[in-house]
Amino acid sequence: MDYKNYIRVIPDFPQPGISFKDITTLLNDGAKYQQAINDLKELVAGLKIDLIAGPEARGFVVGAPLAYALGVGFVPIRKSGKLPYKTIEVEYDLEYGKDRLAMHSDAVKPGQNVLIADDLLATGGTISTSVNLVRELGGNVIGTAFLIELSELNGRAKLPGIEVFSLVTY
Ligand code: 5GP
Repeated sequence: MDYKNYIRVIPDFPQPGISFKDITTLLNDGAKYQQAINDLKELVAGLKIDLIAGPEARGFVVGAPLAYALGVGFVPIRKSGKLPYKTIEVEYDLEYGKDRLAMHSDAVKPGQNVLIADDLLATGGTISTSVNLVRELGGNVIGTAFLIELSELNGRAKLPGIEVFSLVTY
């Protein structure tokens, strides 16, 4: 399927010069959303996955249904201050701005195989921070999965030795 037909591109959002890939138009179409998750499931079929972790908020929209489809657990990676139990936290740079991400300190058991999922790979800041969080808990990051990859920003360079799966590349 040509997913680009279902992704709306918004120029100059949220800042001048950024061409935002709006996935809400894809999510709005039940059959296409389902197909996207099924296609990601096919892409990662060779991996032995124990858990999927996804950063808020759009990482939930991809990671949770993928976890459900695979019958594995889902771990939310959240902005600082949102998780109720003990957390570990890491600060990171965004394509636009700065933030901190957190995980529950017992969310991943040492040695578990974790796939990290998000809607989009841009500079790789969000995902490499997520990788660091999972590794800090002793998790084994076995891959990353995205609906969209912005190849110009070369986020893959921040993920050395980690497999990157994406449905669409801009
Ligand atoms: P990175 O950290 O790789 O630079 O940026 C990726 C993160 O920012 C993802 O969590 C993603 O949700 C968000 N993001 C950055 N640019 C876009 C965009 O054009 N479209 C969407 N949907 N998300 C974006």
